[in-house]
Amino acid sequence: MLKQYNYSELSQEQIAGLIERNNDSNNDIRGRVEQIIDKVRQGGDQALKQFARDFDKVELQRLYIGSSELAALVETLDDQYKSAIRIAFDNIHKFHQPQLKTKEKTIETMPGVNCWRESRAIERVGLYIPGGSAVLPSTLLMLGIPAKIAGCKEIIVCSPPQKDGSVNAAIAFVCTLLDIDKIYLAGGAQAVAAMAYGTESIPKVDKIFGPGNQYVTMAKTILQGSAQVAIDMPAGPSEVLIIADEAANPAFVAADMLAQAEHGADSQAVLVSLNESLVAKVQTELKNQLEQLPRKEVTALAIDKSFAIIANDLTEAMQFSNSYAPEHLILQTDSWQELVPRIINAGSVFLGHLTPESAGDYASGTNHTLPTSAYARSYSGVSVDSFVKKITFQNITKEGVQNIGETVERLAELEGLQAHKNAMSLRIWQTNINS
Ligand code: NAD
Repeated sequence: MLKQYNYSELSQEQIAGLIERNNDSNNDIRGRVEQIIDKVRQGGDQALKQFARDFDKVELQRLYIGSSELAALVETLDDQYKSAIRIAFDNIHKFHQPQLKTKEKTIETMPGVNCWRESRAIERVGLYIPGGSAVLPSTLLMLGIPAKIAGCKEIIVCSPPQKDGSVNAAIAFVCTLLDIDKIYLAGGAQAVAAMAYGTESIPKVDKIFGPGNQYVTMAKTILQGSAQVAIDMPAGPSEVLIIADEAANPAFVAADMLAQAEHGADSQAVLVSLNESLVAKVQTELKNQLEQLPRKEVTALAIDKSFAIIANDLTEAMQFSNSYAPEHLILQTDSWQELVPRIINAGSVFLGHLTPESAGDYASGTNHTLPTSAYARSYSGVSVDSFVKKITFQNITKEGVQNIGETVERLAELEGLQAHKNAMSLRIWQTNINS
């Protein structure tokens, strides 16, 4: 059963407590992940094989699946799944392709001073595809498509080995669509460490992408500061916040909450409702729908950690939502258009009664790799931008030196940096002689 609170009766401390999630306050996860990182750094492939034995219960002879094995796996995938994956591929591609802007407009900030930005793809990227409680070929679409559009030269993919020491056929099919001919069999924090430092089999990358459980997210967070590797964002255990009023359909609300909860016991689904009777109906729906789910045990654990808040009006509801900063926000109200400008913090937003989050998880086109644990306050979800760097360029003409020269000299003087001033003074002198 969902825990239930009245927003107006909550103290600031209680609200802060409801907003906080996955905080690892005793450093349990951090400690374990630091040990895993050290072992991979020192032991390379051997350490990865040992972790596969310990965590994934599989004995690996080698740490990758190559093109011929991928092709054989593809053969085993049913055609109806292949066509669904192709449609998702096309929609995600359509949405992400226009995000690529290789050169921006040149801005002449003063006559003869020309500045612009150009994008360059990050050369070597590492994609983590979760595969613990569920294998997520959709995540390979969400990361691989923007990486290809950006033009990344080397795309390294890591995913936990399945019990048979292989990968799932749908992952293999997505690889063929993306022209990726190898998948590395490594999961969890150890896969992230392998991509950050490199091992005998797994190449070191410049940036690591992808969602995962708390071990994966912690490893990304630790390594971004220490291994000369960047990360996309902290994308940990999934979460949804639904704002629903009397127009909402309780069956839809419950289905969306359960869709989030079935990811794992660490997922969270929050309902912010404008009336108590809707919460009661959603509770009944949750109970009935949960019974039908194959993953009902794990889903029930996540629902136990979830809660409903009763707000007096949409203003209060939005206030809580912006503080919670959900990865996914669903607005099941007829007034969603009014609410859109009031959304400040959210990863991805689903508007109206007929827009379930699962559309965005799989196939509508938007990306599903999104910031969790309130990081939507400061991070965006994955896009083509995540796979490029923006380099600034400038060119100054003789006229430009005359226009900007003295300003640069004065500012260098102000900061006491004589060599900076000289670099401009020499050019002013040279252009004066030649004029
Ligand atoms: P996973 O691939 O992230 O993790 C599986 C790996 O975790 C295993 O291979 C193992 O190496 C490691 N592991 C398991 N138990 C461990 C332990 N006790 N100590 C150290 N390492 C251990 O798969 P998952 O566990 O199913 O998690 C996937 C997560 O990704 C879910 O929490 C889901 O909510 C989240 N997700 C987030 C987004 C997003 O955009 N934020 C998108 C999709 C999924």
